[in-house]
Amino acid sequence: MDKFSVLEQVFGYRDFRPGQEQLIDGVLAGRDVFGVMPTGGGKSMCYQIPAMLLPGITLVVSPLISLMRDQVMALKAAGVPAAYINSTLNTAQMRLVYRNLLAGMYKIVYVAPERLDYPGFGGVAEKLNISFLAVDEAHCISQWGQDFRPSYLRIVNFVESLPRRPVVGAFTATATRQVREDIERILKLREPVTALTGFDRPNLYFDVLKPELKDQTLSRLLSERRGKTGIIYCSTRKKVETVCENLLAQGYAATRYHAGLDEQERSANQEDFQFDRKTIMVATNAFGMGIDKSNVSFVIHYNMPKSMEAYYQEAGRAGRDGAEADCILLYSAGDVNTARFLINNSSDNEELDEKQQEQVRQQDLKRLEAMVGYCKTNTCLRGYILEYFGQKHPEICGNCGNCKGEYEEVDITREAQIILSCTKRIHQKLGYWVGINLLGNVLRGSKNKQVKELGLEDISTYGLLKDRTRSDIHAMAEHLEAEGYLQSELEHQTLQLTPAAGNVLYQDERVVMKREVQAEKPVPAAHSMTPAAADLFDVLKARRFEIARDAGMPAYMVFSNATLSEMAMQKPRTMTDFKRISGVGTLKSAWYGETFLACIREYLDEHPE
Ligand code: ADP
Ligand code: MG
Ligand code: ZN
Repeated sequence: MDKFSVLEQVFGYRDFRPGQEQLIDGVLAGRDVFGVMPTGGGKSMCYQIPAMLLPGITLVVSPLISLMRDQVMALKAAGVPAAYINSTLNTAQMRLVYRNLLAGMYKIVYVAPERLDYPGFGGVAEKLNISFLAVDEAHCISQWGQDFRPSYLRIVNFVESLPRRPVVGAFTATATRQVREDIERILKLREPVTALTGFDRPNLYFDVLKPELKDQTLSRLLSERRGKTGIIYCSTRKKVETVCENLLAQGYAATRYHAGLDEQERSANQEDFQFDRKTIMVATNAFGMGIDKSNVSFVIHYNMPKSMEAYYQEAGRAGRDGAEADCILLYSAGDVNTARFLINNSSDNEELDEKQQEQVRQQDLKRLEAMVGYCKTNTCLRGYILEYFGQKHPEICGNCGNCKGEYEEVDITREAQIILSCTKRIHQKLGYWVGINLLGNVLRGSKNKQVKELGLEDISTYGLLKDRTRSDIHAMAEHLEAEGYLQSELEHQTLQLTPAAGNVLYQDERVVMKREVQAEKPVPAAHSMTPAAADLFDVLKARRFEIARDAGMPAYMVFSNATLSEMAMQKPRTMTDFKRISGVGTLKSAWYGETFLACIREYLDEHPE
């Protein structure tokens, strides 16, 4: 066996992705390696393939239990002898794994970082022939990263405690220089073969929407994507609850995930999503590090995350199978306040002293600023992302909201002056700032009780925007906030003027708002097929669902959507043709080939062209 035959026979792929070959060759030649590749770039293959080719076993250090379970399940589904060791195993299971391990029955074993410290594990490890130690999600070693895990710091002690130092590999999607340096230094990598591949994910479509009513927009986005699988990220647990309830009420197969749920419900919900019993996952950022579900076809952010790193990692969970997928962020100015609030009130990391804490906070605020910049930019969104990660890029990508959308510019200077002046007058009259609802009522000349009782009918801007809708006024106020003329105060939900408002009020500074004319929607993968192929695709999906259900594993582990759609388009009639489909390996063709071929033949008989 060589790396190509493993790639083809075990995983069913024909070509390596950027960086993979270089890293695999490095490991096979006995060199340390360092892979920095985007989420979905195919890092796992860089340790799984060497694991199959090296003598002895490969240990993979991985931070999340669900991720281990998943990868091991997928490996077993492809016929690779694999196991994991973590706290979810009971004593009997643990004993069995250790016994098999010592008997040399596994090629690849996943362990949680804490496990390396256990004397029991160390004792077993000494007796093993460990050829390769792969550290996945290696950024967890850095205090500058988002997911610092102190137990990662001790990996190197484990390596040094072994009778023979194995090849060490580190893998991460975090590309900032500081984190990269930390990884190399703390893990003591020895002149590693390094692959830093491009961060572009061409199959992802990016868009930022600024809806007046997020729930309405979300409903529209979802109705355009019925039957597809997706994740909706919200910034708070409460929001997760309300959004999920709304979707259930609308008849969507939605489920939820956040740190406030007990462990049992969390894993049940995650599994429902994993197994396609529920197609929509509504979650906080607590969900995902361990997810490598490959058929996620959209990731919608109901709220803006705290950083570009977080955004790209979360959005990057879409389209890992290489099929077209959408990453849509629903921005509102309020999100900035929430994010700032979360940063300022995040619990302290006990391992840092006060000065370091403050440094981290400042850095978080800088990251937030860049994130807001993404939401506001009129230039190519993909370009903005790549720029942030320090990668060159063309000016226009042609596959993001800003490259595709058609906008018209509307001059709202007059309206802006009215809104700002009204804000100011109300403050003068009442002695305090008020929220957008009352402000809108005054501008629209409402006769409601509150307006009357506060005597706001008398102020000069009362009713000056009575020809505008409520949502129109809200949108303009949000725009003024986004542009820095208004500022909202989190605690009382009030809007106040900033010094910059003076430029509009007294110096005629122009205010221009972009309005989407009619954005062209991206063509999703399933729709770029001919209607007949799309039809067959559905038939194949149904078949896949049955197989997965009977085998008790997630559907995408049978075949990914990308593989099924290629099947639907190529319509293979023989096993030889079937094996040519990307994602069909030797084992899988043996296990599932006949049944899918039968499906295709039957379909073609019933639908002669
Ligand atoms: P990450 O870099 O985020 O860890 P994964 O290793 O989970 O990415 O891989 C993401 C997806 O890409 C998986 O579904 C995997 O099967 C697929 N993949 C990896 N390498 C290749 C390849 N050479 N050709 C086609 N698909 C690949
Ligand atoms: Mg990974
Ligand atoms: Zn673009």
